[in-house]
Amino acid sequence: MIKDILNVLFPKNCLGCSNLLLQSEEILCLLCRDELPFSQEHLTVDNASMHKFYGKVPIEHASSLLLYSKGGMIQQLIHNLKYKNHPEVSFFLGNIYAHLLSHTNLLTDITAIIPVPLHKNKKKTRGYNQVDGFAKAISTHYNIEINNTLLIKTIKTSSQTTKNRFQRKGSKKEVFEVDQTQLTTEDNHFLLLDDILTTGNTLESCCKKLLQIPNTKITILCLARSI
Ligand SMILES: [Zn+2]
Repeated sequence: MIKDILNVLFPKNCLGCSNLLLQSEEILCLLCRDELPFSQEHLTVDNASMHKFYGKVPIEHASSLLLYSKGGMIQQLIHNLKYKNHPEVSFFLGNIYAHLLSHTNLLTDITAIIPVPLHKNKKKTRGYNQVDGFAKAISTHYNIEINNTLLIKTIKTSSQTTKNRFQRKGSKKEVFEVDQTQLTTEDNHFLLLDDILTTGNTLESCCKKLLQIPNTKITILCLARSI
C-alpha cells in the first residue's frame, strides 16, 4: 500500500532506458532485463576479457558479465551507477552474476574479494564505491569475506626539487599500494572486482601490486566489458 502511494508520488524510471517503471519493476524495466547483453565469458577459459591481460599479468581467469557498447542500454545503466547516485545497480548486477557463477567452479578457492578501490577523496565526492554492491552480492552468495583495506589507492607526488614550475603540475599520480601490515605466508586467491573493463590498465596495476604478495593468485570479474 505505502509502496503504491510512493510509486504514484515519486515514479521511478528504468535506469537503462528511462521509461517509467511499473510498480513491480526495480532498476530495469522488463524489456531492458530481457535485452541484457550477457557475454557468457564465465563459461569460457579463453575469452575476450582474459585477452586483455595476456602477456601483461598472469591471472587465473577473467570475465565480464555484460557487453558494453557506446550509446547502448548498459552505457546508461553504468552511467547511472557511477555518476547519478545509483549504487544499487552494483548489487543488482552482482546478484545476477552470482547466480550465473554458481554453474562454474571459478570461485571455489577464493580467499578474499577485493573491489578495485577509489581514492578516498573520490569516494567522498561520489559517496560510494560503485563496485561495493557487486562485492557484497558475491560475498553474500558465496560466503567469502571482502577485504577493503589490503589494496589502497593513493596519490603519489614525485619529488619537486628537480622539476620546473610546469613539470610540477603533472607530478601527482594515482597509484595502488598494498598494506604491508596485512601480509601473511598463507596462500591467497583474490577475486578482484571492477565495474567496467576497457583497456584493463587499472586492473593490471592492481594485479601487479597484489602479485608481489607471495603465494598469490588472482581471478578478475567485471560487470561489463566495452566492445
Ligand atoms: Zn528499460
